[in-house]
Amino acid sequence: MLPDMHTAEPIPEAARAEIERLLQSGDLFRYTAPENAPVALLEREFAEVMGTKYALAVSSCSAALFLSLKALGLPRDARVLIPGFTFAAVPSSVVHADCVPILCEVGANYRIDLTDFEAKLDSVQAVIVSHMRGHTSDMDAIMALCDARNIPVIEDAAHSLGTQWHGRKIGTIGRVGCFSFQSYKLLNAGEGGILITDDADLVARAVIMSGAYEHNWQKHMRPGDNSAALEQAFARWQNRLPLYNLRLGNLSAAVIRPQLAEIPRRVRDGRRNHDLVAARLATSPWIEVPDALPGEDRAPDSLQFNLVGMGDADIRAFAEAAGAAGVKIQVFGQSRDNARAFWNWGFMPEQFDLPQTRAMLMSACDTRLPARLTEAECEQVAQILLDVLHQVMGPLRAYGT
Ligand SMILES: *Cc1c(COP(=O)(O)O)cnc(C)c1O
Repeated sequence: MLPDMHTAEPIPEAARAEIERLLQSGDLFRYTAPENAPVALLEREFAEVMGTKYALAVSSCSAALFLSLKALGLPRDARVLIPGFTFAAVPSSVVHADCVPILCEVGANYRIDLTDFEAKLDSVQAVIVSHMRGHTSDMDAIMALCDARNIPVIEDAAHSLGTQWHGRKIGTIGRVGCFSFQSYKLLNAGEGGILITDDADLVARAVIMSGAYEHNWQKHMRPGDNSAALEQAFARWQNRLPLYNLRLGNLSAAVIRPQLAEIPRRVRDGRRNHDLVAARLATSPWIEVPDALPGEDRAPDSLQFNLVGMGDADIRAFAEAAGAAGVKIQVFGQSRDNARAFWNWGFMPEQFDLPQTRAMLMSACDTRLPARLTEAECEQVAQILLDVLHQVMGPLRAYGT
């Protein structure tokens, strides 16, 4: 039996009673109940887990990124620096916010190339750092460069919940952090997202623009909370901002809340599975698994590795044979219309030539590795990949001196 690499984990049983209650009462809108709506409770609990003051749950991580840019008050056509290796949703959120995405190079280790980053930094008004698949760029260097220029940093931590950088939670290092609840991420509500920040003014703007019309912003204050800063910020922005209506509904919050307690296990097992398969694959002369940066503790639910010394035809043959053997591999730059290949973002106002990022994308492989796989199943996945590589490259070429 091949391991099941694709299905999601079941939603914890505890979600059922709450969903039944919501179905009975029809109370699906976050602003119907006077207080303690499931969405508001999710925001409080998520902020507590992350150790931040504020959280705003919205319809997707893309919506969270868009609202973050809008909440920063960037002028039309502001330039926003993003990595050349990210998901198409990221440049899309920049375009949606009437800003211009500027791409910087990414290295063979999937992290931001700091030389190119610094070279482009003086021409931009904001930065989005995409921690792609949980790979964290050097946040100390990035924050030092941006702080010195007073450039705000948004962390796109859509797929990086649980990752830490020198003991700090990813998503809490920049001015604002954004996460996804889409089904392929650590917490699964089908769709959804959340932004976190300690900045009262920024969150007040984001709350109103997310669709807190009239005085619904009051339902974003904790009961008994004496946060004058937040109340003043809401008063400042009342009636002054457009309402984009990107709210999350109560049913989604009910699906997510019982999963919060699962985060430590999913992180631990995901890391175990990743490290096991990575170590086995690294024994092949054709495979290189980039090391984590010092200080980075990842929470992977997938594995990325580079094929080395192989031509494009060999790389494509490997991906095809792995898929036929039951382990789906995507090579970001070799699969047609891939949303993580920057040359497919034809909607960008400016195009970029990033030879280093392009070279990485042409040989970087990606496979899902869900936390629920057993160690035996991970061994099986690693063996399939090594066998297939062996077949494609031939025993002599793989093991010859
Ligand atoms: C999934 C993902 C997004 C988009 O999240 P949605 O909730 O689907 O909008 C953005 N950035 C990265 C790095 C992602 O992995």
